[in-house]
Amino acid sequence: MDIANNIEEIRKNIPPDVKLIAVSKTKTVEDMKEAYDCGIRDFGENRVQEFLTKYDEFEKDVRWHLIGHLQVNKVKYIVGKVFLIHSLDSVKLLSELEKRYSNEKIFVDALIEINIGREESKSGILMENLDELLEECEKCTHVKIKGIMTVIPIGDEESNRKYFSQMKVLFNKLKNENLKNIEMKYLSMGMSGDYKIAIEEGANVVRIGQGIFGKRNYNK
Ligand SMILES: *Cc1c(COP(=O)(O)O)cnc(C)c1O
Repeated sequence: MDIANNIEEIRKNIPPDVKLIAVSKTKTVEDMKEAYDCGIRDFGENRVQEFLTKYDEFEKDVRWHLIGHLQVNKVKYIVGKVFLIHSLDSVKLLSELEKRYSNEKIFVDALIEINIGREESKSGILMENLDELLEECEKCTHVKIKGIMTVIPIGDEESNRKYFSQMKVLFNKLKNENLKNIEMKYLSMGMSGDYKIAIEEGANVVRIGQGIFGKRNYNK
């Protein structure tokens, strides 16, 4: 199986209203160009340094998604370059984004990352801290909240479904609350192993890496 075939197969499983993000972390620009030639325009990266080296290699029609934990001191490097930040998870990060983007008089869309499985090893905000972050989001004028994102704990199908459906409940709740500056447009969840379940449970953005590009090798 090659990249083009993988994309074709995955597209068969994804309804037209679900956005496919090709997660290209650790993968070469060459691999990414292959995906680009299949019509992929949304790429997901998790590290700022790697994202920046790849950024210059592509046309401006690529939409870059930052899906990994974003350190406050790295924000300055990405201003004006990303389409969507999936990993807003603290008031501190929000404040830095708001400051840097308003300085440039431009806007950024972001998703709040929820640590739905309450795993210490994972980033994302815990449910009990969400209200505080939401209150700060309501005051922002340059960071626009467009939905929520999660990476669920490793588990079986039943466990996956449970976490995905909890996210969908939260998504609907926030949608109904109609908070200022907080729109529920994207529900970003599901990766190579569980994206079909995620879509069944309401995801409209899936982030697929190995299912498109093959296994990752971190030792290269
Ligand atoms: C790596 C990664 C993915 C993609 O994982 P695959 O198993 O390769 O599909 C999705 N989301 C996040 C946040 C990731 O870091």
